[in-house]
Amino acid sequence: MTSRLITRIAPDVGWLPVSFSNVYFIGRPGGKWVLIDAGLPGWAAEIFSAAEARFGAGSRPEAIVLSHGHIDHAGSALALAELWDVPIYVHHLELPFLTGKSLYPPADPTVGGATAFLSRFLPVLRRNFGDRVRELHQHKIPGAIGWQWLSTPGHSPGHICFFRSSDRILLTGDALVSVDMDSWNGLLTAKPKLSGPPAPFTIDWQSARSSLKELANLRPNVVGCGHGVPISDSDLPERLEKFARRFRAPRRGRYVRQPARTNQNGIVDLPPAPLDPVPFATAAGLFCVGLALGAGYLDEKKRR
Ligand SMILES: [Zn+2]
Ligand SMILES: [Zn+2]
Repeated sequence: MTSRLITRIAPDVGWLPVSFSNVYFIGRPGGKWVLIDAGLPGWAAEIFSAAEARFGAGSRPEAIVLSHGHIDHAGSALALAELWDVPIYVHHLELPFLTGKSLYPPADPTVGGATAFLSRFLPVLRRNFGDRVRELHQHKIPGAIGWQWLSTPGHSPGHICFFRSSDRILLTGDALVSVDMDSWNGLLTAKPKLSGPPAPFTIDWQSARSSLKELANLRPNVVGCGHGVPISDSDLPERLEKFARRFRAPRRGRYVRQPARTNQNGIVDLPPAPLDPVPFATAAGLFCVGLALGAGYLDEKKRR
């Protein structure tokens, strides 16, 4: 099997796109290393063989650390944790969603845009990583010296980003992405563009905005996002600062005026679901198609 190759975005930071999500490898061959995020379900073998190509056969990370537990970042985490026999670390506010206690607050398809449209068709599954998953402590990342994690809620309750101040490299998960997932053009062409968190899965827009400002204040030299290509342009700090300053919540949407509230047990309180006209429009469309086909069938019968 020819394995996909990890691209270096710093001497000891590797990037591997798997489907439309990214995973990152922190560490050098021969030393300790950590996997950041784990892509969609079904990518464990790809990630595993890419890691063997970079770190050597039989090598395994100290841990898998997740920016958050959404399916496109945690999908292959359990399979990899079992292959390598290592723990998965998350912020404690993500734990209820990965230990079978609670579902994530539901996606908001009414917020508008491409991913919102597609979110209607995604399965909602309860996931339980059992005792593989653990809570991150302090701001250290096990196995990644010189790195810290910072709490960046808004997209999800316990979302975190990863930062190393010595070379100002920042891994952002979904708090900041470098492709516009709300536009069909952005989604299909993957054209690089600083963008806010994927809208239909963002449950607290005020916090998401504060988190973006905090990331801009770090003035990173390199940004590796959860979706889209990593960015290292020389004007990145200024662009990010401007982007965060101008960032606004969408005009409408379930979580725009009122956030979803969650705690260590999961969902506490949700704003009411707005009326979503699309399923009705689709049902009405199918009904009309059915009527037309039915009428044609009857005509056919009459003619016989
Ligand atoms: Zn997410
Ligand atoms: Zn994502």
